Amino acid sequence: MATTTGTSSAVKTDDFWTTYTDRVKENVNKRFAETPSALPEGVEDLDVMNTMQVLTPFKLDHSDNQMLCTTLPMRHSSNGPLSQDPVGLATDGLTECYISGYLKRMIASTPDLGEYPVPRVEVKAHRLTTFPGKGLGMVAERDIRAGELILAERPLLIVHGLIATPRQAQLDHLTKTDNDQVIMHDVESIFALSVERMNPERKKAFENLANSHLHDGSGPILGRVRTNSFAVPEMIDPSGMGQINYGVVCDELSRLNHSCSPNTTHYWDMPSFSMQLRAVRDIEKGQEITTQYCELGVPFVVRQKMLASYNFSCGCESCLYPKTSDSRRFKCANAVARHGYPKDWSRDFELPKVTAVKPLLEIRDLLLQEGLECSSMYGFIVFLLMKTYAARGDVAKTREYAGKYNVWRLAGFGKAANDDELDKAFGLVETAEMVQKMRGRLQPKGKAGKGKGKEKAEA
Ligand SMILES: [Zn+2]
Repeated sequence: MATTTGTSSAVKTDDFWTTYTDRVKENVNKRFAETPSALPEGVEDLDVMNTMQVLTPFKLDHSDNQMLCTTLPMRHSSNGPLSQDPVGLATDGLTECYISGYLKRMIASTPDLGEYPVPRVEVKAHRLTTFPGKGLGMVAERDIRAGELILAERPLLIVHGLIATPRQAQLDHLTKTDNDQVIMHDVESIFALSVERMNPERKKAFENLANSHLHDGSGPILGRVRTNSFAVPEMIDPSGMGQINYGVVCDELSRLNHSCSPNTTHYWDMPSFSMQLRAVRDIEKGQEITTQYCELGVPFVVRQKMLASYNFSCGCESCLYPKTSDSRRFKCANAVARHGYPKDWSRDFELPKVTAVKPLLEIRDLLLQEGLECSSMYGFIVFLLMKTYAARGDVAKTREYAGKYNVWRLAGFGKAANDDELDKAFGLVETAEMVQKMRGRLQPKGKAGKGKGKEKAEA
C-alpha cells in the first residue's frame, strides 16, 4: 500500500491544484463564450466560477446545505490532514462531484477512504456491444457465476438529485416558465463546470454517453446525467428539503440496459470510491448483462410509465407476456407480505415456529420464474427457508440456503456483506445439526411418529 508523507504531498497538492484551477477557468470561459444564452430577457448568465468556487478536496468546513463543485476521493494522510493522491489514481481516475457540504464531510469521515484501489476482475467478464434497436449494451464475455464481481468503476460524475439553482431568491419575480428555464440553464452551467474539471479522457467518455432527454428542456449535460445516473442509497442529504438522493454517472456501467428481470445488482463501495456490479444468478457467455431502471414489483403498465423517459420499450419476457407476469409478481408481493416482511428481517435469527417449507418454496419458484433474484423479496424468502430448514434439523438444506443467502447479500452489498449477520446465518448450520441430534435422542428407536418426536422436543 502506498504511503504519503505530509511535506511532499503538500507541495504536489499545491502544484496540482494551481494547474487544475487554471485549466478549468479557461475551459469554462471558452464553453460559455461559444454557447448562445437561452435565458429570458433581463436575466444574466450565472457566474458559475464565482458562485460555485473551485474547491480543493481538502476543505471541509462548509455548512450542511452549501453546494460544492469538488473532486473526490481525497485520502487521509497519516499525519491528519487530507491529501490528494488516492491509491490507484493513475488507473482509477477522479470523480467530479456536485455535492453538499454535509455529504462531503460524510465521505471524508470514511475511515478507509481512498486506501483501496478500485477492484479489478481477474479475467474480464464483460464487453460493450451494440444491440439491434437498443444501442450500446453489455454482454458476458465468459460464463459468470452468481455473486461474482463483473465490473467496478470509479464514476465520472456524482450530482445532487434536486434540479435547483443557487440564485433562486433572485428569480421570484419571473413567471413559472421563465423560472424553469433559468433553473435548467443554471444546472447545465454548474454541471458544465464539473465536466470541464474532468481530464480529457474522462470528459470524452462523458460526452459519448447516450442522451434520451432531447426534448424536455434539459441541456446536453443535464440530459446525459438524467439518462445515465444510478441512484445511490448510501449517499443521501438528510438536511434541508428532505431526503435527496444522489445520482452517479459512470462510463461503462452507465451502458447497462434495463430488464424487468435483471441478472445483476449494484452497490456503492465507499473505501474504493467505486460503483460495483455483481451477478445475481449465473450468466452464460454471450448473454446480455442487465440492470433495473425502475421499480420491479409493480405491474407492466406502471413500469412502462416509469421507463417512458428513457425512450425505449422493454422487450423482456415479463413485458412480452404481461398478463402472466403481472399475476406472478402480484402473488409474490402478497405472499411475502403474508410472512410479515419486517424492515429489519435480516437481523432476526429466531427460529420460526411454523416449519412448513412448501409455501416458501412456492414463493421462491414464482420469484425465480420472474427473474427477481435481485429483489429483497427473494433475499427474505431465502433467509426464511434457511431458518426453517435449521428449525427442522435439515443440515444439508440449511447449508444450501445459507450459501444462497450469502450470494444474495454479496451481490447486493459487496464485501460489506461479510459481517456478523452472515456469520450468524452460517451458524444456523450448527443449529440444524443440534436440532437433528436432539431429534435422534428424543425419538424412540424404530417407530417414532413425526408429531410425537416434535412434542417431546418442545417439552
Ligand atoms: Zn420488461
